[in-house]
Amino acid sequence: MLAEGAEALGIGWTATPLATLSAPRGLAHPCVYRGMCVIGCSTNAKQSVLVTWLPRALEAGAEIRDLAMVGSIEHDDRGLVTGVHYLREGRWRFQKARNVVVAGYSIETPRLLLNSASGKFPQGLANSSGLVGKNLMVQSNQAVWGVSDREIRSYKGPPSLAITEHWNYTDTGKDFHGGYSYMSQGPLPIAWGTTQSSKRGLWGEALLDEMEKYNHQVGLKIVGESLPQECNCVTLADELDQYGLPIPRVTYSFCDNDKRLIAHSLRFMRQALQATGARDIWDETDDTCHLNGTARMGFDRKSSVVNADCRSWDIPNLWICDGSVFPTVGGVNPSLTIQAIACRTADRIKAMAQRGEL
Ligand SMILES: Cc1cc2nc3c(=O)[nH]c(=O)nc-3n(C[C@H](O)[C@H](O)[C@H](O)COP(=O)(O)OP(=O)(O)OC[C@H]3O[C@@H](n4cnc5c(N)ncnc54)[C@H](O)[C@@H]3O)c2cc1C
Ligand code: SF4
Repeated sequence: MLAEGAEALGIGWTATPLATLSAPRGLAHPCVYRGMCVIGCSTNAKQSVLVTWLPRALEAGAEIRDLAMVGSIEHDDRGLVTGVHYLREGRWRFQKARNVVVAGYSIETPRLLLNSASGKFPQGLANSSGLVGKNLMVQSNQAVWGVSDREIRSYKGPPSLAITEHWNYTDTGKDFHGGYSYMSQGPLPIAWGTTQSSKRGLWGEALLDEMEKYNHQVGLKIVGESLPQECNCVTLADELDQYGLPIPRVTYSFCDNDKRLIAHSLRFMRQALQATGARDIWDETDDTCHLNGTARMGFDRKSSVVNADCRSWDIPNLWICDGSVFPTVGGVNPSLTIQAIACRTADRIKAMAQRGEL
């Protein structure tokens, strides 16, 4: 349906690039097209840190301490980090380290750096620019749904098998900066029922009637860029969590450009669905998805937190390596880029260590 709508409106589309096996590979099983991808792949065909990276790390000699909460990072008088304080099995412990790589993602990474403030670094670690926690970007995730006369059967296969990136690569016909992609959507029945009750207020008989149309539901959903703004940020709240650590406070709003992008996408996806003959079309206007930013990468220590190696400008043996280093977010899913950056950072740390620079 995505392909049909895109072709009718004269834009390109493609199969969605998925890090999922379509055929057996080594000990790994292929995809069986049962559509559980968002709640946990039953065959491990879908790539994830658990399936792909941790076994390799263990094989290479890594030790994993699960269910551990790092509360702060320690440093010495020279300003080099020396290790982390973490809570595990009911007590706080200290792990010495030559290098510390923080990878807690866009909310927990700045929270940890801010919670590690000291006399030497009163603003928190790696924060001489004042940018730790700032420029948080939440991708927009609005959708347009309709009913088709043809059977769709959304529960079959991974949920987003076709994509168009047209609006990431053209400026013609836009009233906003940046871009978005949109993908076909295949929610499982339970997710679809939840959407109907939470987003449309359907309940009881009305919800049952709507669910009867499940096999004919068709949907398109964006991953939309939002612009980096310093006012969108993670700061520390006064409230403490169960570990006695200040919890993060997230302040966020879409700017006018973000809102124009969303409005454009809803108009366009509606036209695309109409072109397929779908009826009863409605907009899901308030969804969001992935986070990025809060410890941005850059060329200059005044306007960024880490350099291109994910090394903090302020503390040479402190690295930040997760979605928080994105300076901008783009209109696509971020995880494969996050993993590519992690691989690159690991290579660079290794090369520096081999050259005796660490
Ligand atoms: C339901 C769902 C579906 C998604 N689908 C997609 C998709 O289809 N495509 C896509 O590209 N992205 C998707 N995402 C987003 C994707 O999961 C994230 O972008 C990605 O995992 C971020 O990677 P990361 O390494 O930066 O952080 P994470 O994967 O969040 O890793 C951070 C880790 O740090 C740990 N941590 C945090 N703080 C501490 C601390 N103080 N002490 C110890 N450990 C700590 C956390 O427990 C976590 O394990 C989805 C997310 C969700 C929730
Ligand atoms: S459809 Fe999704 S959950 Fe099922 S095997 Fe394929 S990748 Fe895994």
